[in-house]
Amino acid sequence: MKIINSIQEMQAWAEEQRKQGKSLGFVPTMGYLHEGHLSLVRKSVQENNLTVVSIFVNPLQFAPHEDLEKYPRDFQRDEKLCRQEKVDVIFYPSEQEMYQDNLTAVAVEKITRVLCGQSRPTHFKGVTTVCLKLFNIVKPHQTYFGLKDFQQYVVIKKMVRDLNLDLEIVPCPIVREADGLALSSRNEYLSPAERKQAVILFKSLNKAKELFDQGETEAKKIKQEMRNLIAGQPLAKIDYVSIVNPSSLKEVEKVSCGDVALVAAFLGKVRLIDNLVLE
Ligand code: AMP
Repeated sequence: MKIINSIQEMQAWAEEQRKQGKSLGFVPTMGYLHEGHLSLVRKSVQENNLTVVSIFVNPLQFAPHEDLEKYPRDFQRDEKLCRQEKVDVIFYPSEQEMYQDNLTAVAVEKITRVLCGQSRPTHFKGVTTVCLKLFNIVKPHQTYFGLKDFQQYVVIKKMVRDLNLDLEIVPCPIVREADGLALSSRNEYLSPAERKQAVILFKSLNKAKELFDQGETEAKKIKQEMRNLIAGQPLAKIDYVSIVNPSSLKEVEKVSCGDVALVAAFLGKVRLIDNLVLE
């Protein structure tokens, strides 16, 4: 397994592999890898000749008051996990290497202003900018994204389509703890009491699905039930509870099959997100 820090070297390696007719799979991450990330890596290794994992905590997608400084990092552990999974290259650039004197950004409009974009107005611009840069550096044929960050997946897919990027975005299912909590690097910050109550996000989504399965289609009613459930956990504070159309991300009034229920909530200071397709 190679570890590449330089953009130029990464591009040269990718170019060479493409010339040789190899298919390149890519998994962009911020490191501190867990089973959620590894599920993407395994899919990429299975579906491509070569797999590149990037590890880069992207400052552009954090607002000044957010957790950039204390975001968990452990490169040695990540390296070991990638080796075990038969990753071919870890792309591990410094902030200086990635941004230097960068003055350019790319933004997807509209669908980045709702849901997480409301409480994190600069977040998705940071995500799309870093992803476009990474796509141009790693030159993948297929790039793997977790549906845990559902809005991110939709936004990236839209950018790829709107800018006619020559690569495929592959969605991957959410990996969960035994009790249902979606795996996240940020779960690390939870106190034992917060961790216990964090499962309420998943429970509220299951409630939505249960109601929909029983024939309830009034989004307002379903969302109220979800809110009531979360309100029963004193350490949880709702950021949003939504049911949206999966491509426009517009809030629906009548729920139909394939719409997505999403929830974001703070457990203490930790903001967690989760979602479930209603089908
Ligand atoms: P991050 O390191 O948080 O930027 O995540 C890197 C990639 O891993 C993104 O595509 C995430 O959606 C995906 N991911 C994170 N957690 C999970 C999970 N629990 N299940 C599936 N994918 C995940």
